[in-house]
Order: sequence, then C-alpha cells, then structure tokens
Amino acid sequence: MNNTKNTESERMNFWEKLYIPEIARGLGLTLAEMFKPKFTRQYPEERWEPEGSYRGRPVLVNEESGERCVACGLCSRVCPALAIEVQAGETEREKERFPTKFEINMLRCIYCGFCEEVCPEEAIVMSKDYELVFQSQDDAIMDKEKLLVPVAQLQDRLEFLRQYR
Ligand code: SF4
Ligand code: SF4
Repeated sequence: MNNTKNTESERMNFWEKLYIPEIARGLGLTLAEMFKPKFTRQYPEERWEPEGSYRGRPVLVNEESGERCVACGLCSRVCPALAIEVQAGETEREKERFPTKFEINMLRCIYCGFCEEVCPEEAIVMSKDYELVFQSQDDAIMDKEKLLVPVAQLQDRLEFLRQYR
C-alpha cells in the first residue's frame, strides 16, 4: 500500500487550490473581531480597580491608635513560603504586645492569603496593590513602614472577609 498517495477526499478542489475563499473567510473574521468589545486596557493611563475579593500584596492594618497586630506570630508560622518575620515587644497599652519588627519578603510571598486567614485580630489583610516593582532583593523586603496601611483604605477587603467568616 502506498501511504504517500492522497485519497480522493483529501485532494483539494479547484477553489481550495486558489485559497481565495479561505482568505475572504479570514478577512471576514478579522473584520467581525474589530467590532467586538475590547478587553485590553491602556495601562497605566487606564487603571484596573480590583474587587474586595482580590488578593494583592499582604499589608498591616493601621488604626488611629496604631497597628492592630499583637505580634502573636501565627501568620509567620502558617506562611508556607516562610516570608514573614515577626519580633514581639511589650507595650503599656491594653493589647500588651506589638511587633517591634515585622517584615514580609515579597520575593517569597505566593499571595496565598493564609496569613490573613489565621490572624485573630484582622491585623494583616490582602490589599488591592498589584503594582510591585523592585530594584534589588532588599527592596522586596517590606518593613512596618511599607506594610502599614490606614484602615480606611482597606474597608473593601475587611467587609469581604466579614461576609465569609
Ligand atoms: S500571602 Fe501567603 S505566602 Fe504571602 S505572606 Fe501571607 S501566608 Fe506568606
Ligand atoms: S498580623 Fe495577626 S497573626 Fe500576624 S503576628 Fe500580627 S496579630 Fe499575629
């Protein structure tokens, strides 16, 4: 049996050999796509505002009285990427403990949200921040100064969490 010989059904007819109908069909498809709604954005001029369910970089909640964190260390223990380092100190305030050092290595973080889930104080939450650019490895290690975000800016996420807790 000769395998290289085309069967009758595999052979192209006259119009198929010209390719003109296929070119016309391709152009029609392109034309139709031009009038469909567009999903691309002119970033960064046109920015995307995520929903409360979005998991951007983890941040610490900052209230008027200071950070909510009581330095219990649970987030650090649960983090699968070992990205969080917490050191606790004593305070005269009612909550008694606070983090003297709180760092998240954003090169390690996998945005799983486990730290947020385990926190008993709603002190660490996943923000809407998705623009992360680092010039060096040290830049990617976020300390308290970079992590603390006013509670007013995190309302969407906190409300989302309360719906599912
Ligand atoms: S989001 Fe996940 S990986 Fe990132 S710091 Fe929290 S627990 Fe660790
Ligand atoms: S952020 Fe929450 S879980 Fe992590 S140390 Fe502070 S209070 Fe504990």
